[in-house]
Amino acid sequence: MPADFDPAACPDLPTPLGCACSRRRFGGLLMGGALAPAAAWAQREGVNVGETSGFTKLISAEQIESEGAEQYAKMMSQARQQRALAPANHPQLIRLREIAKRIIPLAGDWNPRAKQWRWEVNLLGSPQLNAFCMPGGKIAFYYGILEKLKLDDDEVAMIMGHEVAHALREHARERVGKSMATNGVIELGSALLGLGNLGRFAAGVGGQLLSMTFSRQDESEADLVGMELAARAGYKPSAGVTLWQKMGQAAKGAPPQWLSTHPAGPTRIRDIEANLPKVAGLYERADKPAQRFEVAPPLKSSAEG
Ligand SMILES: [Zn+2]
Repeated sequence: MPADFDPAACPDLPTPLGCACSRRRFGGLLMGGALAPAAAWAQREGVNVGETSGFTKLISAEQIESEGAEQYAKMMSQARQQRALAPANHPQLIRLREIAKRIIPLAGDWNPRAKQWRWEVNLLGSPQLNAFCMPGGKIAFYYGILEKLKLDDDEVAMIMGHEVAHALREHARERVGKSMATNGVIELGSALLGLGNLGRFAAGVGGQLLSMTFSRQDESEADLVGMELAARAGYKPSAGVTLWQKMGQAAKGAPPQWLSTHPAGPTRIRDIEANLPKVAGLYERADKPAQRFEVAPPLKSSAEG
């Protein structure tokens, strides 16, 4: 274990973009997502989640991605100062980056912009059960989720796929768009809406990314798209079931942040199970990873040392 990294350094590391189930529902309130022609979805193999929400169009992808990059850079530099940023030779970071290497090339099929994203994968020294992918492909795992759930590679791939799917499906952009809509920004009409107004609104986006929650529908979408990404990358889709069973077990104690916002209920597991046949063929035919990695070793009982 490298001396400059403590996997439990930051018990209270902030959580950007904790992807969460929001109790507020906006479905159909202003504009629904334009659904792709059913024929287009019928012809492709894999899960069917429709087009992204029309709300994404209210703020540019560039804006959201650059906010994501800025927040991520800030957070990683804070983590480094606190010895909570794993160095490149940390075995669990090597593992995360190898898994990401298999998933990232598939991202462009879901979002063409992802081909130009400057992807990053980091491991944070925190006992929290958490992981995220910020807009623009900025991924981080907290040591606690690897260690406490004793995740195998298939399960890590499933979480990574889920988080990457939030970014690819632009759920953050959608949430910001909805927030603009509900704040009456678009009611002013685009003619009245000077760039100055948009600029001022957009200035608050960074703060929103830090406390963002996603709708139940976005969560379900992320589960399914993430499962397909992982299956195409050669990871066993049924790991989605064992992963959420482990989550459910872990949630029985004091619910950690990620778990409290990702209810591991039977509905979620049933949805995943129902979609397994849609990705089974993709997994069968996928190149499987040549190397399997060790499960993350447990944290010492005292995090002080
Ligand atoms: Zn999520």
